[in-house]
Amino acid sequence: MDILVCIKQVPDTSKVEVDPVTGVLKRDGVDSKMNPYDLYALETALKMKEQQGGSVKVISMGPPQAKEVIKEAYMMGADDGALITDRKFAGADVLATSYTISQGVRKMGNFDLILCGKQTTDGDTAQVGPEMGEYLGIPHITNVLKIVEIKEKSIIVEMDMPDTIEVAEIRFPCLITVEKDIFQPRLPSYKRKLEAKDKEIKILTINDFEDKDEMKYGLNGSPTQVERIFPPSVNNDREIWTGTGEKLSLQMASKLKELKFI
Ligand SMILES: Cc1cc2nc3c(=O)[nH]c(=O)nc-3n(C[C@H](O)[C@H](O)[C@H](O)COP(=O)(O)OP(=O)(O)OC[C@H]3O[C@@H](n4cnc5c(N)ncnc54)[C@H](O)[C@@H]3O)c2cc1C
Repeated sequence: MDILVCIKQVPDTSKVEVDPVTGVLKRDGVDSKMNPYDLYALETALKMKEQQGGSVKVISMGPPQAKEVIKEAYMMGADDGALITDRKFAGADVLATSYTISQGVRKMGNFDLILCGKQTTDGDTAQVGPEMGEYLGIPHITNVLKIVEIKEKSIIVEMDMPDTIEVAEIRFPCLITVEKDIFQPRLPSYKRKLEAKDKEIKILTINDFEDKDEMKYGLNGSPTQVERIFPPSVNNDREIWTGTGEKLSLQMASKLKELKFI
């Protein structure tokens, strides 16, 4: 079974500050790590390879320093990896990111299964997996909690549907996004750490893609624009009202009108 895992480098903290003037994330001095959900996706792929044979490749889109997450994947057991990096991809929104990664996937070869994390800890949209599935024209399933059975031409999984668990069968080639706790990620091995030191990381730029139309990448290919990013203001103002039920309900109605909720 040939599996590709999508891994993203994210800030190593959930407390990245936003510059209130420019609205840009203050990334300076903030360490980076592999998106935690992608560790679960990678572990799932490695477990499947142990059972079924085949290969596990990884792909990441990001700045040159995102090579570090590919090295980490090598240390866990990935066979091969590529970094999609090009200044022309800067400013990509979710749609442009999904298109860019799917172009990179096409360049990496044919896969039975593409695995993504459920979401990232920075962008947090959980949209990249399904959008890539659409761009690649393959079936996709999100929020996978458990692999029930791997058959010759399909896979049966349990999906977390907030209030229920749904069991679904999906044929290969397909894309799934995984929940945390599907498997416990292994620690990088020291032996693999030594082997990974000089292992090649392929670099993919727009020139390597089948579609070289610059209007589809980066800011040009992004229909959404962030107008402003700001930390929500904290309002601890409290009012305590007393009186009869009738008086309180009238007071509540007039307050809601004043705040333009009704
Ligand atoms: C208008 C706009 C402008 C933006 N500009 C920038 C910018 O200039 N620079 C910037 O860094 N970000 C920018 N972003 C954020 C960027 O679009 C998102 O980080 C990206 O689309 C991934 O979305 P997400 O983090 O929500 O991923 P999710 O959909 O939450 O991720 C789900 C899974 O998809 C896979 N995945 C997601 N991203 C990657 C990746 N990069 N490589 C490999 N696998 C991945 C992983 O398996 C992950 O677990 C911008 C966003 C918007 C809306």
